[in-house]
Amino acid sequence: MMQALHEALRDAARLCQLVQDRYLSASAKTAGAHTEPVTIADYGSQAIICRALQQRYPDDAVIAEESGRQFRQVVSSEKRAQALQLLAAVLGEAVSEAQLLTWLDFGAGRRSRRTWVIDPIDGTKGFLARRHYAIACGLLVDGEIADGIVAAPGYNDGEGALFYTQAGETWRALLAGGAGRRVSVSARRGGDEFVVAQSYERAHASKSRMGRTRELAGLGGARIVELDSMEKYALVACGDADLYMRLPRAGSGYAHKVWDHAAGVALVQAAGGMATGLDGEALDFSRGETLPNAGMIISNGQHHARVVAAAGRALRE
Ligand code: AMP
Ligand code: MG
Repeated sequence: MMQALHEALRDAARLCQLVQDRYLSASAKTAGAHTEPVTIADYGSQAIICRALQQRYPDDAVIAEESGRQFRQVVSSEKRAQALQLLAAVLGEAVSEAQLLTWLDFGAGRRSRRTWVIDPIDGTKGFLARRHYAIACGLLVDGEIADGIVAAPGYNDGEGALFYTQAGETWRALLAGGAGRRVSVSARRGGDEFVVAQSYERAHASKSRMGRTRELAGLGGARIVELDSMEKYALVACGDADLYMRLPRAGSGYAHKVWDHAAGVALVQAAGGMATGLDGEALDFSRGETLPNAGMIISNGQHHARVVAAAGRALRE
């Protein structure tokens, strides 16, 4: 079922790469110059994914980060024209603003047993800094995670990969195309080979609490990989990483958004891993745009309870 969307995510990734090539000049260092490329890429990417959903699943609901109303109200006419040009280049057909607006709002505000959860560019800061970012689409059925696809253009030193679930398993293909191979989580329990993934941005999670948790869990020798976006979920799903923690900074009341997690959790679960809240509780995707969970612990399942216990201590200290 998700196969129908693989091409859409690949096209969305191509659009993002085009935006980086055309509009993200290495010399444009000012904040203003750097927010516009992401705007165009966000809307373009969401439009491509929603277009595919509308064609194949016309009755389904969508929760996505962007909306047609915002596009009309806050994006300059010059940028709107650029977005249409990029869509035409990637899709190989002319695209009108009316079509784009219809795609952007497809399924929004609708109630259905099936809800697609889209992050058109996850890891905006990584996208702008040419680090890692992802394009993600998850499927909830009756409020539970069912499937996910994550395009990770920066995977494996920029080779790029498409991770997806299919019939309860997780697969990885080259982003450029071709057949996928089944992947699964690692069996590592600790030691020097153990790899822990975490956010690059220090504002997004507490590096000190995660360091303390590793110490308390006996994972002091682990190698740390810091990167932006949901690619971290994909790394755990395919065994490149063994643990990914997202512990809140002290005093943070941040409400996690479903589109930042749904597709990634699907990949990890179908690959045999575990994704829970900080107390080991289930992540609750049934409440709309935000999750009630204050943080996440994602693992290969070999040491999950030990990490949950260590995180609990680190958070209380
Ligand atoms: P990552 O690169 O894994 O940190 O994830 C990027 C995502 O973190 C973005 O899509 C944001 O929605 C989300 N984010 C932004 N601010 C925060 C915050 N204060 N705490 C946790 N996540 C955040
Ligand atoms: Mg995001």
